[in-house]
Amino acid sequence: MDTEFDILIIGSGAGGGTVASALSPLCADGARIAVLEWGPHFKDEEFTGGELEMAQKLFFESGAITNRDQTLTVACARGYGGSTLAYTGTSIEVPQRSVDHWNVPGLTIADLVPRMRHYKAQNNVHELSDEDINENNQLFAAGCRALGYSVKKFPVNIKGCKGSGMCNMGCPNGAKQGTNRVQLPAAEAAGVQVITNCRVHRILPHEVEAEVAPSPYGHPSAWPAGRYRLHAKVIVVAAGTMHSSALMAHSRLPVSLPALGRYFTCHPALTLIAQHDHPFLNYYGFPKTYYCDDFEEQDDYILETCMYFPFTTAKSLAGFGAEHSALMADFRRLQMILVLVSDQAEEGNRITPDADGNPVLHYTLSERTLDALVDSQRIAAKIFFAGGAARVHAPAADRFLIDKADSDQVDQLIDRRHLKLGKISIASAHPMGGCRIGTDPKNSVTNDRGKVHGLDWLYVADGSLFPGSSGVNPYVTIMALADRVAEGIRDRWRAGELR
Ligand SMILES: Cc1cc2nc3c(=O)[nH]c(=O)nc-3n(C[C@H](O)[C@H](O)[C@H](O)COP(=O)(O)OP(=O)(O)OC[C@H]3O[C@@H](n4cnc5c(N)ncnc54)[C@H](O)[C@@H]3O)c2cc1C
Ligand code: SF4
Repeated sequence: MDTEFDILIIGSGAGGGTVASALSPLCADGARIAVLEWGPHFKDEEFTGGELEMAQKLFFESGAITNRDQTLTVACARGYGGSTLAYTGTSIEVPQRSVDHWNVPGLTIADLVPRMRHYKAQNNVHELSDEDINENNQLFAAGCRALGYSVKKFPVNIKGCKGSGMCNMGCPNGAKQGTNRVQLPAAEAAGVQVITNCRVHRILPHEVEAEVAPSPYGHPSAWPAGRYRLHAKVIVVAAGTMHSSALMAHSRLPVSLPALGRYFTCHPALTLIAQHDHPFLNYYGFPKTYYCDDFEEQDDYILETCMYFPFTTAKSLAGFGAEHSALMADFRRLQMILVLVSDQAEEGNRITPDADGNPVLHYTLSERTLDALVDSQRIAAKIFFAGGAARVHAPAADRFLIDKADSDQVDQLIDRRHLKLGKISIASAHPMGGCRIGTDPKNSVTNDRGKVHGLDWLYVADGSLFPGSSGVNPYVTIMALADRVAEGIRDRWRAGELR
């Protein structure tokens, strides 16, 4: 085993996997590159689709890292491929208005677009044909169109999809083209080592302290269990938004980084559910085909189709007892919409490390976010009814179900005073920020190429780079940013600076 490397990459998700593949051509030039990944490399047969089993296997905290006041849960996965194991694979380019809003000199939409398109092509991104779209999605489109809202098709990154609908539990058919399927195998073939079951505990100048521990799942790690001290000319942190800033803060780096962990955003989301009078095809078929972004610019939210399995659906319902049980028993008649709010980057929303370096999330849902969550429930309810739903469950309604007969009173029945924080299930799968790109070390952590201010050996390349929320599903943007980071490192290698 080598303990001397040129480049060490911490994490193998959308960011780390991209950096590994983009830097892998340097291996032919003698570069020693390794990826250190905390989680296992799951075997194909371990993606069983069992909801609770996969939640526990795949995710940190079974998919629910909570903020300190327990009003929000955040999901991020652990394993070869990171959260790309669990994502749905909707592949949207960051819009110009988000990049303009970030306002980082040097970071332009013109630079990001070709990078995003490169990875979209690599990951087989395309739109589904109409005959592959199931009824849960068709009902959303019908409702939107009936009300005059625009509805767009998601580009998705699947190949050989069997429509099992289990994308968020890890695809049992190997159809989603995450970094586990595309970038990491290509990087390994080119000579990059990927060490799984390997948690980095601390980053030191040109060094990391890491530990390989056996896992009950996956292929065995390439290295025996034990503690390691590894040296590298360059270290790239791509541990994901929740873990990168926690790891860096825990490491006590030899520079002052006042913005580290701060300006966290996460697209707080609610799952909204409607009941139809007849059963239809909802849980089978690719789950997420359409979205509506008519409200993004003005009202800070987008609406997407979604379909979750029984546990996730049950916890998304505000209420309990007989009415909860009756609605769940009617699963075949349920339609779902996901609301995602574009939250603002605020300094006080931040991640700090606990004594072991695990993330502690300090996040307050702002008044603006709560207003958007209420407004979006009203719009979603109208879309459900326009699509033929008989009853709608909205967590901010004054009752468990709003009947179609009351559909003209949706604006009054769904109201902010009924939105009881801590009693409704606000969740996030898009954590962003904490190591934001910028020019001023007072309010940013890295430069526009992901190099940490004041340290020429340390880079960040994952969702934590976002200066503010992307406003859209983020993985394609993360890959583009990681590609920029890799390009900067590659240029330094080729200039002989890192040899
Ligand atoms: C359920 C779900 C659905 C989603 N659906 C979509 C979607 O449809 N479209 C979209 O655009 N986005 C989606 N996302 C978001 C997308 O998956 C993430 O934004 C993206 O994968 C984040 O990339 P990342 O590199 O920042 O982190 P991750 O992909 O989370 O990778 C981080 C990796 O670092 C590892 N790590 C952490 N700490 C350490 C350490 N100390 N040592 C070693 N390794 C470490 C972790 O184990 C993990 O494997 C979804 C996310 C989830 C959870
Ligand atoms: S719907 Fe398609 S991509 Fe999703 S888990 Fe099933 S086969 Fe995989």
